[in-house]
Amino acid sequence: MISEEKHSVNALAKHTLGEEQSLCAGCTACAAICPVDAITMAADAEGFLHPVIHTDLCTDCGLCRKFCPVHNLKNGGKTGWEGHGVSLVLAAWNLDENIRRKSSSGGVFTALAENILEKGGAVAGAAFDDRLHVRHCIVTTMVELHRLRGSKYVQSEIPKEIYEEIEHLLQQGRSVLFSGTPCQIAGIRSFLRKPYERFYCCDLVCMGVPSSLLFDKYIAWKNAQLESPIASCGFRDKTSGWKTPGMIHSSLDGRCEYTQQSAYYLAFIRRLALRPSCYACPFKGLNRPGDVTLADFWGVAKKYPEYDRDDAGTSLVLVNTPKGKEWLDECGAGLFLGSADIDTAIAGNAMLVHPALRPPERSEFYGDLGTMAFKALIRKYRLKRPAVHQRLIKSLRQRLSKGIGQLIRSTRRQEQQI
Ligand SMILES: Cc1cc2nc3c(=O)[nH]c(=O)nc-3n(C[C@H](O)[C@H](O)[C@H](O)COP(=O)(O)OP(=O)(O)OC[C@H]3O[C@@H](n4cnc5c(N)ncnc54)[C@H](O)[C@@H]3O)c2cc1C
Repeated sequence: MISEEKHSVNALAKHTLGEEQSLCAGCTACAAICPVDAITMAADAEGFLHPVIHTDLCTDCGLCRKFCPVHNLKNGGKTGWEGHGVSLVLAAWNLDENIRRKSSSGGVFTALAENILEKGGAVAGAAFDDRLHVRHCIVTTMVELHRLRGSKYVQSEIPKEIYEEIEHLLQQGRSVLFSGTPCQIAGIRSFLRKPYERFYCCDLVCMGVPSSLLFDKYIAWKNAQLESPIASCGFRDKTSGWKTPGMIHSSLDGRCEYTQQSAYYLAFIRRLALRPSCYACPFKGLNRPGDVTLADFWGVAKKYPEYDRDDAGTSLVLVNTPKGKEWLDECGAGLFLGSADIDTAIAGNAMLVHPALRPPERSEFYGDLGTMAFKALIRKYRLKRPAVHQRLIKSLRQRLSKGIGQLIRSTRRQEQQI
């Protein structure tokens, strides 16, 4: 059964992406577009979803290939965001301090989403389900919006029913906001095939996504140490500030654990755990699929200290279309908006323009995830921040060797001058 599935996965990937099968971003557009439901999504050995063709149902119509956003981009086909380009760069945050504190960056997403809900529209974004799996869902009320708030550093699954529901809402004339990673925006734009006036897209600057298998194993390992299982999880808690976030777990019995030592978070930020396609992501650069792009405005204080006085979170907002500009203007009363420039944005946020570098041990890491106990994985890949005194010694050593280096260089210079 497994080998049959593998064969089918490769068959579709080969069909759509040729030699570059590993570029499949798992957006689900091919499964959603298939008119005979011949494609389902199945997890590979690392836990990433890939399309599986059921050859008994497939009529070889070629739509999956035609609407694969990666295939399209590679081959110069229509992307649905031709002509987009950054027209405005802003530093921003939500003026509601509570929302800003609960959001990963400055809470701009919530303002954009509230605007759509006020128009009677619907908002699609990533949320945890009751099994702590991250999936896209659609919300239509303010009360539900909190489910989408905050970055979840796990690849969000988009069930194909979400694509169908969005198309249905748009055909009814409702406003819809779709928010997600650039590959997901590319997928839904490709699936819809035509522009809808009331369709709003907000993409995120994205470093890449780990698999849900890794997250499941992490949660199982944590649960084994706790009296009561984890019920919810935050990846970017601001207890110690926006720039030094921690992970927070809340257990069913109401207890909370805050940590800046999370093995999961370290595997993520060290880029060990990303989907293979993320290391060659074709959605980088300033031609963005969203009407608006959101990110953390890292390094903003270097040029604009007034935009980061409280370490509470500053969003980078890129406006990519006239629709995006109108939308943001409508949200203006709830947001602080300050003008900034693209060079400062790129200088602090390489992920805007470059994919993450693939560490040499990336494949071994996922190989080990399949065979090793999580504790052994942590030890092998040093997924533990060193204790404070060790970090202090390391930093002193670095400074000392830098100082000695400078001393040697300046002595040499003086000798040459003599
Ligand atoms: C996997 C991932 C990697 C990121 N990498 C970077 C980076 O390298 N540099 C950077 O500046 N910013 C990155 N971001 C974006 C950043 O963390 C914030 O999400 C963004 O700035 C919006 O923040 P906010 O405060 O406006 O709203 P928030 O409320 O914090 O953001 C919520 C929005 O994020 C979406 N979202 C959350 N998790 C996911 C997910 N797994 N998949 C798809 N959409 C999701 C929700 O649908 C919602 O729209 C990343 C986000 C994610 C999810």
